[in-house]
Amino acid sequence: MTELTHPNINDGWFRESTTLWPGQAMSLKVEKILHVAKSLFQDVLVFKSTDYGNVLVLDGVIQATERDEFAYQEMIAHLPLNAHPDPKKVLVIGGGDGGVLREVVKHSTIESVTLVEIDEMVPQVSKQYLPAMAAGFTHPKVNVHIGDGFAYLKEHTGSYDVIITDSSDPVGPAESLFGETFYDLMRRSLRPGGIICTQGECQWLHLELISTVLTNSRKIYPVVEYAYSAVPTYPCGQIGYILCCNEAGRDLKKPVRKFDEEFEKTQLRYYNAQVHEAAFVLPGFAKRKLEA
Ligand code: SAM
Repeated sequence: MTELTHPNINDGWFRESTTLWPGQAMSLKVEKILHVAKSLFQDVLVFKSTDYGNVLVLDGVIQATERDEFAYQEMIAHLPLNAHPDPKKVLVIGGGDGGVLREVVKHSTIESVTLVEIDEMVPQVSKQYLPAMAAGFTHPKVNVHIGDGFAYLKEHTGSYDVIITDSSDPVGPAESLFGETFYDLMRRSLRPGGIICTQGECQWLHLELISTVLTNSRKIYPVVEYAYSAVPTYPCGQIGYILCCNEAGRDLKKPVRKFDEEFEKTQLRYYNAQVHEAAFVLPGFAKRKLEA
């Protein structure tokens, strides 16, 4: 059998190279290349790293590693869900690895969760190589739809309590998920008091983009906030979350529901009630730009 190769893997090292963050490149040592393919939408790579477990890479950009994925999945799910008093119906756009689904169904209030992922290859490789994340797909409250999240929202005005957009970066298939029209489509699909939470990029790299998305969102939602968390294998080791609510006066920075301590200890590894509040405290340079 011929050994798999990939242009981002040389001399036993994967190097993340993209024009989205020029002049820097995260590297991970590779034990074995597991999957290399071109899907209809993107380049899909999975490799086993020496220290971060299996790694999913789309168009040369790290999406998740087995070692640190929980930090992102827990935060993008539990920040909006615990800021909502009674979330029952949830929509996830993107998130084809299944990790966000795994976190959403930890809330006993949930009656149904629909995932809309554009690329069917992502759930396929996740089920094969990232089983702890793909575990989310097997839950009986989960429905999966393969299609473009933007088109889905245009065609299905829903009635969701929480919409989570777990997208890749704003180049390629996810570009439309960062525009004002998409934020308006999400608003139209929320029940009163509904909350959205989107992958909000990194304040060290994309402050201008984040500021534009927040400015546009403030035209649409009365409550708009930015939070962030540490994730070692995302660029600069951080990723942000944009949270908006369609009801004025709501405080998304404080959980209105809390997991009990035993649940936090046994079922969660990053999120807890204190981390929820701390995630919204921004460093000076970001605060000045984003709260202006
Ligand atoms: N948090 C991760 C990150 O920032 O690296 C994202 C992980 S998740 C794998 C991102 C998913 O969004 C991918 O599987 C991608 O195929 C999906 N996606 C991109 N554009 C989409 C769109 N327009 N509609 C639905 N899913 C989309």
